[in-house]
Amino acid sequence: MTPGGVNSPVRAFRSVGGTPRFIASARGAYLTDADGQTYIDYIGSWGPMILGHDHPAVREAIAGALGSGTSFGAPNAREVELAELVTRLTGAERVRFVSSGTEATMSALRLARGFTGRKYILKFRGNYHGHADGLLVEAGSGLMTNAGELGAAAPSSAGVPEEYAALTLVSEYNDPAALDALMAERGHEIAAVIFEPVVGNAGVLIPTPEFLTALHRVKAAGAVLIADEVMTGFRLSLNGATGLLGLSPDLTCWGKIIGGGLPVGAYGGRAEIMDYVSPQGPVYQAGTLSGNPLAMAAGLATLGALEADPDLYLRLDAYTAALGEGLVNEAQAAGVPLSVNRVGSMLTAFFQDAPHGSVCNYADAARSDTRAFAAWFQTMLARGVYWAPSQFESIFTGAAHTDTELNATLDAARAAFGALPG
Ligand code: PLP
Repeated sequence: MTPGGVNSPVRAFRSVGGTPRFIASARGAYLTDADGQTYIDYIGSWGPMILGHDHPAVREAIAGALGSGTSFGAPNAREVELAELVTRLTGAERVRFVSSGTEATMSALRLARGFTGRKYILKFRGNYHGHADGLLVEAGSGLMTNAGELGAAAPSSAGVPEEYAALTLVSEYNDPAALDALMAERGHEIAAVIFEPVVGNAGVLIPTPEFLTALHRVKAAGAVLIADEVMTGFRLSLNGATGLLGLSPDLTCWGKIIGGGLPVGAYGGRAEIMDYVSPQGPVYQAGTLSGNPLAMAAGLATLGALEADPDLYLRLDAYTAALGEGLVNEAQAAGVPLSVNRVGSMLTAFFQDAPHGSVCNYADAARSDTRAFAAWFQTMLARGVYWAPSQFESIFTGAAHTDTELNATLDAARAAFGALPG
């Protein structure tokens, strides 16, 4: 009925084997499948569920909105409220809501092209920005996991004409010299440089300060700097990676947490650029369900709860740090090579013998032992821990993860490392 049995490829267990669990319900830090088996959830719907599943404030906000109708196709108060909140938290001067992260990045790039009058965009190998044609070039996890060959040449999906892909230039993440060189040669043709400020989609990759400085230099060439905070936005801080790392992008894209588990994306930033968006400006972008009142209510409740609990980010950081340290210790005890990358509540345990923190680009991540990961994943699942079913994904922790889940996870991890051939 559905190709591959899933509605998004990373949900399939292609790289780890076996059958995806069908989830019947979710509460707090747990998923329950159709057979009644419960799992500690480290996917968090691939990012949005930072407060945990079925959070009372979010449920009540959605229920409250439901009584007034599900979609208007006309302006409504909640979208203004959420725009004001996002503006206040992030410093973006204008915000436009869409219905997914893909729409956000696709629209931001069209806007950058409209604003600059240039054709080319520049992205980084292993960064994923959604599945718009021009962005499916060297595009990270889903493609690293499912395309068969690691490091597949551009374009990384069938159905993307080479002519589209040719407008997307690719540079290496964390390589400031390569970025500077490309900008020196082609900068005058480049409309936008888009990047994941902390990469989640090749596994977690952490930007170096030198790379971040080089990213900001692209502005001097007249390119629009676009931070794709679809994953990191409101996760790494109330102002995402931008707040955490002190970035100054021209435009930012959001998704996931901004919709509190309902379909929402957004893009925003400098008014001078955003005012090119229709109907104010000449760059067309629209959406039947954009600003949907239920989705706006879920987003408002989620961001409101995050703002009301500033210590949450510290708790997430402490939990995830302990998780990372515990994994490294258990792996070491079992003689399994493991290299953990972590920022706040995002973490990837790369199955490889690399010094701590040295996995810093796509090629490094691709050196991981995906077979060992797959075997480890299966034992974790059998023991009730739902890790991301790909070596090249971040896992996400949330407000509902407590010491109980941490201990249970590390118990399962001990067994899973121990079960690997030494
Ligand atoms: N950008 C980043 C950094 C993402 O991680 C994702 C999805 O995982 C997207 C864009 C696309 O968002 P969506 O799946 O909502 O279209």
